[in-house]
Amino acid sequence: MSRAFVILAAGRGTRLGGEPKQFRLLGGRPVWGWSLETARILRREKLIDRIVLVLPPENALTAPDGVTVAAGGASRALSVLSALRACGEDEVLLHDAARPFAGVPLCRRLIAASTGENAVIPLLPEANALKKIENGRIEPLDRDGVYITQTPQLFPRAALRELLENAPRADFKDEAELWLQRGETLDWVAGENMNFKVTESGDWEMARKIADAGEIRTGLGYDVHPLVPGRRLILGGVIVDSPLGLDGHSDADALAHAAADALLSAAGLPDIGTLYPAGDEKFKDADSMALLRDALAKVNAEGWRLEWLSAVLTVQTPRLAPWKDAIVRSLETVLGSGRLSMTFKSGERVGPAGEAQAVFVWASATLRR
Ligand code: MG
Repeated sequence: MSRAFVILAAGRGTRLGGEPKQFRLLGGRPVWGWSLETARILRREKLIDRIVLVLPPENALTAPDGVTVAAGGASRALSVLSALRACGEDEVLLHDAARPFAGVPLCRRLIAASTGENAVIPLLPEANALKKIENGRIEPLDRDGVYITQTPQLFPRAALRELLENAPRADFKDEAELWLQRGETLDWVAGENMNFKVTESGDWEMARKIADAGEIRTGLGYDVHPLVPGRRLILGGVIVDSPLGLDGHSDADALAHAAADALLSAAGLPDIGTLYPAGDEKFKDADSMALLRDALAKVNAEGWRLEWLSAVLTVQTPRLAPWKDAIVRSLETVLGSGRLSMTFKSGERVGPAGEAQAVFVWASATLRR
């Protein structure tokens, strides 16, 4: 079963004033960029195979990396049709770019509810008391059984394409409505409150507050390697003069390992033991700073930036203080400058650290996106 994620950003909605809302900058990227980020995570999880971005024809010339761009039409129906023609996958998730905060968990629920033949949409129970105004009179409206419809909406591509090709001028607010008009049934999953539509200026203010606040995570990393004769002592990529060195499958740089695990943990990614297994010959005597660089790239690819890394090393011998600047500078070549602090502890001659049998490192990473 192959699947495409379609971001509909061809609308000309200007209720906010100025350029169409999907091109406004929200937290430093266009509104549609938020949905692209969600789609990229789904593609990394192998839940989708293709990303299609539908843009107004005049904007449809440049495609972001790895994205299929389709030119939008004069109506929603024609824009969707253009997207369905631009991909060949079995299923499509159609998403309005004006909903920048659709979560990955929501998309996973939609995909899990797919049988390959059904259509699935997100619904959210209406929580407000409802009224309708008729001929100037306010009447109560029963909210029981009333739901708000969101996107993404999942459809079998060929069936939806056929509907649209047979009714290119159909008038509908979302594809679910067209699907129902044609006598089909829908399945549904729970929507998300955060997945609101940015339409009016109040929505825009709310979206800006959320985007500007960002998300902060911390992660903890830890490592230990035995100190033995006949090995080099490498910490943070620096070869430290020492009669004893750290033993391990790679270059045994415990500081780089703890730092990488702290970063990966904060981003919710697999740890270094999983990503770079010790049993893999490829990592024999590996340069651990290259692993740290790769781990940071994986973290950055999820949209996270490193704010701060703090590390504590327990090393009885040699004395590390004279090496501190060199180690910090070396780490900064990977992590960026002014983003880390390091503390050295002696081990106080207690236990395996104090008896110079091993080096222990703890690291905590703070990420923001
Ligand atoms: Mg290690």
